[in-house]
Amino acid sequence: MISFPSIYPDELLYSAFARYHRNSGNESSRETMKELFDNPSTCSSIWFPSQLTELTRQIPGQVYDPDELIQKHTLIPYFAPFIPPERATRLVETIKTYVSSSANMILGRTAFAVKPKLRLFYCDLCVREDREKYGEAYWRRSHQVEGVYLCPVHHNWLVQSKISHQMRLSRYRYIMLEHALQEAGESCFFPNQTLDHLQFISEQTQFLLDNQLSSPGLLNISLFYISKLRRNGFIYQASNRIRWDKLLASFKGHYGEAFLSELNGEVGKEDSWLHKLLRKPRVACHPLRHILLLGFLGESVESMMNEISKGSNQFDPFGQGPWPCLNKAADHYMEQTITSCKITRGSKTGKPVGTFACNCGFVYSRSGPDIIESDRYRVGRVKEFGDVWIKKLAEMSNQDLAARSQAKLLGCDPQTVINQRKLLIFK
Ligand SMILES: [Zn+2]
Ligand SMILES: [Zn+2]
Repeated sequence: MISFPSIYPDELLYSAFARYHRNSGNESSRETMKELFDNPSTCSSIWFPSQLTELTRQIPGQVYDPDELIQKHTLIPYFAPFIPPERATRLVETIKTYVSSSANMILGRTAFAVKPKLRLFYCDLCVREDREKYGEAYWRRSHQVEGVYLCPVHHNWLVQSKISHQMRLSRYRYIMLEHALQEAGESCFFPNQTLDHLQFISEQTQFLLDNQLSSPGLLNISLFYISKLRRNGFIYQASNRIRWDKLLASFKGHYGEAFLSELNGEVGKEDSWLHKLLRKPRVACHPLRHILLLGFLGESVESMMNEISKGSNQFDPFGQGPWPCLNKAADHYMEQTITSCKITRGSKTGKPVGTFACNCGFVYSRSGPDIIESDRYRVGRVKEFGDVWIKKLAEMSNQDLAARSQAKLLGCDPQTVINQRKLLIFK
C-alpha cells in the first residue's frame, strides 16, 4: 500500500478512499479495495464503510484509530444519540470488523424513513475554500445528510452532483469530488419561507456530527418531549393526554405541509411518525424527525442533551401534583393530598419510578411514565402502610371478618392482611 492521504476535516471516508485511488494509479477499484482492506470484495457504502480495523492495520504506521475514523468521518455520530445505546455499540463494532457493511440492517428502518439523497452533494464555497487551503476539494459528510440543503458553514444552497449515492452503483467505484466537478451539478432550491427551517436542520446536523454524543436512551428523549409539550399546552392537564388535534395543526402550521412533504415528513391524523415518536419511545426514529420536533418546540439537540443530563427530576413523568392518597383505610382516600413526588430510575428497566408519600404515613410507588389518566390512581407497590392504615387493621382484627373481606376494605391482598396482622402482635 502506498501512503494513505491525510483525511481532511469532516471528509467522508469514501472521499479519502477516492483520493487514495487516484494517488495509487490503480486501474480498477478492486485493486484499491485489496490494498485498503486486504480484500477486493469489501463492500464499502458511502454512508457506512466496513472493515475499518483492517484498514487502519493496512495504513503504514497505523496512524489512524478506527474509533476516531468512525466519529470524525462517518455518519455514525448523526444516528447514535437517537438509537438505543446498545445498538449504537453494535453499529460501531460492525463497521470496524464486518466485510460487508450490515450497518444499514442494524439501523433498520430508522435510516430510510425520510426522503433519501440519491446523489452526493457539495457546496461551491467550500470547494473554493478547500482548494485554497488543501489544494483540492473533497466530499464533506455534513452535505450528504438528509434534510441538509444549505451548507452549515456558508448557508448557501448545496449543489447536487451526478454521482449516485446508491450503494449498488458506486460499490466498487471511487469518485473524487474534483472529478465530479468536471460535470455541472444542479443547485438545490426551496421557497424562501423555509430557509429558517433548513438553516436549523443544517446547524443541528453539524452539531451532531461535531459532538459525538452518546445516546441518552429513547425513554429519556421521550420524557423530555412530553415535558415540553406540557409546557406548551399540548397536554390535557386533567387526563395527561396529548392534545393531538391542537398539536398536529400547530406543527403543520409551523413548517407548512409542502415543506414537510418535501422531507417525507407529513403528519396525518393518525399513526404518523410524530405519533410514533411520542407514543412509542422504544422505536427508533430518524434523527431528522427529532430535529423537526425539536425545532417546533423551540429546543435544540444541545438544549435537550443538557436538560437530560441534569437528571430526570427535570421532567414530570407523573404529571403535576398534587397526587391522590391511595390509602383505602384513610378517610381522605383518593383525595389529592400528596404534593411532592420523588422520582428515581428503575435499575433494570431504566424507567422512572415515582414514590408518593402522604401525611397519613401511607407511601406507594409505581413505575412510569403515566400515559393515561387512570395511571394516577395505580399503586405499583406499597412501601409503607403507615399509622392510619395499621390502626384500621387493628380495629378490624377485633371484628369477625374474613381476611379476604378485610383485604378488600384495606385495599391489599389477603396475604398482606395476614402478614401485617402478625407484625401487629409484636408491636
Ligand atoms: Zn460551504
Ligand atoms: Zn393519606
